[in-house]
Amino acid sequence: MATNRTFTMIKPDAVEAGNIGAITKMIQEAGFRIVAMKMTKLSEERAGQFYEVHSERPFYNDLCNYMSSGAIVPMILEKDNAVEDFRTLIGATNPAEAAEGTIRNLFAESIEANAIHGSDSDENAAIEGSFFFSATERF
Ligand code: ADP
Ligand code: MG
Repeated sequence: MATNRTFTMIKPDAVEAGNIGAITKMIQEAGFRIVAMKMTKLSEERAGQFYEVHSERPFYNDLCNYMSSGAIVPMILEKDNAVEDFRTLIGATNPAEAAEGTIRNLFAESIEANAIHGSDSDENAAIEGSFFFSATERF
């Protein structure tokens, strides 16, 4: 059964471009409640841990380098059908293929620097949320 939480982070390109506010506004207007939120930066090693599942992919080293290149804004979000609805809100991985009006369509720079992360399953949402937030940091 689908749970009502997902995990996201605004990626370094979107933070650097000054789009934290615009993206957070879209998330809230789409009906998601922010359960946890902070601004932080990943080391390359910690970025590697987060994206461990992609460690065999050709873009893994570039991705870890990019994801540790600047500040990020991780969040836990709550809404009915959160995981699936959030993936719809952000659009396809490649912004060239992201539907009109999605966050990646509006704000992503490239397939790598694509503005925002969204968990792909309830199980990963829980794992990823715990990667950044302790129980007392969730509201
Ligand atoms: P998503 O973030 O849409 O779930 P993936 O899990 O497949 O996409 O990939 C994780 C992240 O790795 C992407 O959001 C993107 O930043 C990067 N990435 C994915 N595919 C590529 C690629 N072909 N070239 C460069 N970076 C990529
Ligand atoms: Mg993914």
